Parts: sequence; structure tokens; C-alpha cells
Amino acid sequence: MANKNKASFKGHCQLCDRLQMLPGGKMAKHGYTVANRGNWGFFNGTCAGSDELPYEQSAALLPPMIAEQTRVIANLEKWREEVLSPVVEQKCWVHEYVRGSYHRSGYYRWRYVDVIATPRTSQDGSYSWILFTYKSEDGKTEEHFSAGSDTGKDVVTFCAKMNAKKADDISRNIKNHNEYKVWLEKRLANFKVTDLIPRKEGE
Ligand SMILES: [Zn+2]
Repeated sequence: MANKNKASFKGHCQLCDRLQMLPGGKMAKHGYTVANRGNWGFFNGTCAGSDELPYEQSAALLPPMIAEQTRVIANLEKWREEVLSPVVEQKCWVHEYVRGSYHRSGYYRWRYVDVIATPRTSQDGSYSWILFTYKSEDGKTEEHFSAGSDTGKDVVTFCAKMNAKKADDISRNIKNHNEYKVWLEKRLANFKVTDLIPRKEGE
């Protein structure tokens, strides 16, 4: 007789389509693995489809997740508008590299920084420009914006240019959430109860 605690069937996660054994009839704990179905890199941590029925048996998680994506997209669109609104402070977004240490690797992150504007004049005095820099998070060092984008004629134009890059990043994020939402909606529309997938011999 089969061991009751040992999963005999496999099923797909409602939210990320991962195929897994079903201990106790539910999806085991897992992280999001939708990467192969789209660039939904915004997911971190444990998938909310963990400890829930597989898609073969239920689509109950889909409507609340679709509603959640709608909320997230609306918030991101609002944020994008704010980022693109006229510059009133001498501040802007920077995509900065955080150096790694012995324990972790380096990574990029966005930070909203005060812009330091330093007027410069060529040696012969024939032309002038402004060099834009910002302080590191600990305030100890003065950092350069990426090469080629760190000079200009006025701070408002410079900040607007930098903020447009942040807005592009938010746009990509909105696109990813939209793609995920479309995928969830199709999944909900196509839902029907089907058989679980029997475990193969030796699995
Ligand atoms: Zn999942």
C-alpha cells in the first residue's frame, strides 16, 4: 500500500505554473519560477501558490492575484508620473552600483540624491559648463554620475534627464506586471478541473 505521506501525484502551481509533487495534496513551498514564461523578475521570495491546491484542481488564487497586479500597475503608473513631473528640487534619481564585499556580490540600485552642481570653465576661458556629482550614501565621498551624463548647462535639465531614465525603468516594470496579468487572465479563462499528474516510477 502506498505511503500516505508520500506524494503520489504532481500538479502545477496556480500562480507560477511550476510542476511539483503534492505532499498532503498541496503545492510544496517554492520560489517564483515564471522566468521561462516572461520576464517577471519582480518576484522574490516564496510563491504565494505554496501550500495551496494545484491549478489542476483550483483557480481560486487567480482573481485576487489579478486584482493585486491591477493595483500594482496603477501605483507604478502614478509613481512614473511623479518621477516625470517638473523638477522643483535639486535632486534626481541615480542608478548606482553598490560594491560587493567578501560576503555578497555587488548590485545596482536606484537612489534619489541631492545633486551637487560645480561650475567649470575651460582653461582658456572660452566656454563653461556645470559638473554634476552626488554624495555616497554614507556622505563620505563625492560620486560621479555615469560618464558622459555628468555635465550640462543647468541643473533642472540635468535632473529631468536623469529622472527620465528612472521613468524608463518603471515603464519596464509596468510592462512586466501587465504581461503577468494577461497570463493570469488567460489562465483563469482556460481553467477547468483536470486530473493530477501521476508520479512516474522511481520519481
Ligand atoms: Zn508558484
